[in-house]
Amino acid sequence: MLSVITPVVRSNFRLFIEKQSGQNLSRCYQCGKCTAGCPVSYAMDLGPRQVMRAIQLGLKEEVLASKAIWLCVHCQTCSARCPREIDIARVMEACRLQFQLEKGAAADKDVALFHKLFLEAMGRWGRLSEVDLAANYNFRSGHFFANLGLVPGLLSRGKLSLPKNKGAGVVKQIVSLSEKASKGGAAPRKNTASPLGEVNKKP
Ligand code: SF4
Ligand code: SF4
Repeated sequence: MLSVITPVVRSNFRLFIEKQSGQNLSRCYQCGKCTAGCPVSYAMDLGPRQVMRAIQLGLKEEVLASKAIWLCVHCQTCSARCPREIDIARVMEACRLQFQLEKGAAADKDVALFHKLFLEAMGRWGRLSEVDLAANYNFRSGHFFANLGLVPGLLSRGKLSLPKNKGAGVVKQIVSLSEKASKGGAAPRKNTASPLGEVNKKP
C-alpha cells in the first residue's frame, strides 16, 4: 500500500527562515510562477523558485552566497502570484537577516553601501530622493558614471528635483529604532507584525 512520504528532517536554517518569515515552505510545489513574475530575476543567480527549493533542502551556504537575496526589491509580485499563498518577499527578507546575523553586513559592498545611503536619504528628506541617492551612490561607490543614461528619462518625469523635507524626523526615529533592534537581532515576524523587535540567540 502506498503511503504519504513526509520529510521529517528540517535544517536549522530552514526552521529559522520559516519562523522568521512566518511562512510554511512545505507549501511550495515549485511551479515557478514567482520567478516568472519577478522583475529582477533576469539579474539573479538563483531565481525566487530556486531560493525556495534551496531553503527546503537546507542549502544554507548556497542561499546566503547568492546575490538574489540582495537583489530582491520587495515588490511582492511573487507573493501576489504564488498559488500556494507563500509570501516569498518575506522569505527573502529572512534570508538577509540570517546573513546579517552571521556575517554582519551585506555580501556585496555596493549593496551594503546602497542600503546605507538609501536610509540616510530617507532620514534627510522623509521620503526617497532619487537625486540625493543616485548622486551619493555614484560618488561614494566610485561608479561615477553609473546609470547616467537614465538621467533624461528621470528629468522628463520630474524625478531629479529635491523633495520637500516632510516627516524626516519620524523616519530618523524609525531608522534609529531599527538599528537598536538589529544590534540584538530581530524578532520572528508574524503576518502583520512590525519588523522591529529582538531575538535572543542565533539559530
Ligand atoms: S510561486 Fe509559490 S509554489 Fe510556485 S515556486 Fe514560487 S513559491 Fe513555490
Ligand atoms: S519581492 Fe523580490 S523576489 Fe519577489 S518578485 Fe519582487 S523582487 Fe522578485
